[in-house]
Amino acid sequence: MSAPSIIDLSRTHPPRETKVDVCIVGSGCGGATAAWELARAGREVLVLEEGGDYTGGALTMRDAMYDQLYMERGGRATADLAITVLQGRVLGGGGVINASDVVPMGPGVLRHWQQRYGLTELSPEAIAPFEKLALEDLSASHPTEEQINPNNALLREGTKKLGLRGEVMLHNRRGCIGFGKCLVGCPIDAKKNPRFVAIPAAIAAGARFFLRARAARLEHANAELKTLTVRVLDEKGYHERDEIVVRARTVILAANAVASAQLLLRSGVGNAHVGRNLSLQPQLPITALFDREVQLFRGIPQSWAITEHERLDDPEHGLWGFRIEGIGGTPGIMSSLLPKLGHEGKAMMRLLPHMAASLLLVPDAGNGRVLVDRSGRMRIEYAMPDEQKQRYRDAIRAAARVYLAAGAREVLVPLARPLSIRREADLSAVDGVGFEPATAPFLSAHQQGSVRLSPSPEGGAADPGGQVYGTRGVYVFDSSGFPTSSSSHTMTPIITMSRWFARRLLAHAG
Ligand SMILES: Cc1cc2nc3c(=O)[nH]c(=O)nc-3n(C[C@H](O)[C@H](O)[C@H](O)COP(=O)(O)OP(=O)(O)OC[C@H]3O[C@@H](n4cnc5c(N)ncnc54)[C@H](O)[C@@H]3O)c2cc1C
Ligand code: SF4
Repeated sequence: MSAPSIIDLSRTHPPRETKVDVCIVGSGCGGATAAWELARAGREVLVLEEGGDYTGGALTMRDAMYDQLYMERGGRATADLAITVLQGRVLGGGGVINASDVVPMGPGVLRHWQQRYGLTELSPEAIAPFEKLALEDLSASHPTEEQINPNNALLREGTKKLGLRGEVMLHNRRGCIGFGKCLVGCPIDAKKNPRFVAIPAAIAAGARFFLRARAARLEHANAELKTLTVRVLDEKGYHERDEIVVRARTVILAANAVASAQLLLRSGVGNAHVGRNLSLQPQLPITALFDREVQLFRGIPQSWAITEHERLDDPEHGLWGFRIEGIGGTPGIMSSLLPKLGHEGKAMMRLLPHMAASLLLVPDAGNGRVLVDRSGRMRIEYAMPDEQKQRYRDAIRAAARVYLAAGAREVLVPLARPLSIRREADLSAVDGVGFEPATAPFLSAHQQGSVRLSPSPEGGAADPGGQVYGTRGVYVFDSSGFPTSSSSHTMTPIITMSRWFARRLLAHAG
């Protein structure tokens, strides 16, 4: 019988030392895609993943799943607690718990990276074949008309009444029956994410996956053989239980923009750019009450996007402006979006069937930073400039107008001091919203840019092929290299770029 390819270290006596050709940290869109590419090219690949393996019925659709599927049980936030920073932590990474929106990088972003950041190889023409493969991996398609739930249909109705531009987004579901619990994993495995595409393909090509294996430190980053100290976690991933060592010729970090920078900083690897330029792309929820039932907790959560205000080729920033998308989720997720607590919160939750909700997606300019202190503790700092706050105000006004046009009796902006908008005249109150820390429920799902790619170490932390400056054979293949926001959604850009990075590595290594 052949040895298993997915090994949960918490349930075995792990080998004290493992030697491989390539060790990849993280099994999400970046890590799994790289594992597939490199294994099928004949490389011996080992992937380290600190999460467990959850598929099918093990995904119970309950809010309690946050505990097992999200980094720090969904409780990670910026140091000032202003922004919740969400990341998947499970075999397959964020693709397992994301909203399944498929939004490729626009050519404007790539041209911006070429012209402004000197990444001349990344022309839209050069990336197009990799994007095509990513869309195939994701089985990308449009939801059918029946799959657009009332929450998204109302947003579309308002968009059309106001004559704004919008679109039904591509998604990566096949056989979806509309449970609406995508953010805590799909119990019928309808999402074509890395768990069901790149991971089985990588395994078929010979790759192995260690679960409950947390890469804690990287040493000898410049040597032929690098050393990763790996902490073995317990079955639920709560505590570190043991320590093993992995030695590898090539180390690929694909742990997500926060965790990849964290590992480099904790290991003292890389130059002064590591951790800087972090983009969190914070999203702000907004809700509206209708006389009719909306039942936003049923069906595909996000399918309609208002793209009118989005700029895809801003000369200064690449992706800019803002975008509005419907959103739904479990009662727990929805209650966290509502402005009231206790008795009042309960009364609000009774209104849930009549509530519509959407997210305001505002690209940022890398205003964040990942830092690690002497004891190894990580913190995320983020400063929101006035210009960005202004775009949130503009986005609130735009979304409120759309909801009022669709017949909402009240639009509620869930701030510490909730804002109620019932008519056009109420919109002037938005001018006074200051977004002081922890007064608005900002959340980040698309972290990027903490190990910026640049043709020179003066301009960034990794070379255009993802190799971290100051190392020989340590790479970042996730969104940490992206110099600016790649797209309003990061899954497709990460899969695209990971494959591009992997093929470039193979071409250069011969
Ligand atoms: C709630 C939510 C909704 C989203 N919705 C969408 C969407 O609809 N469309 C879209 O395009 N994008 C969406 N995204 C973003 C997208 O899912 C992520 O950008 C993408 O999955 C990131 O891929 P990755 O491979 O870079 O990292 P991840 O998917 O985060 O994978 C990294 C993996 O590394 C593991 N890891 C981290 N540190 C270590 C370590 N030290 N040792 C070992 N393992 C480690 C983690 O457990 C994780 O599983 C969403 C994200 C979230 C959180
Ligand atoms: S809405 Fe579809 S993809 Fe999401 S959890 Fe339900 S069946 Fe799965």
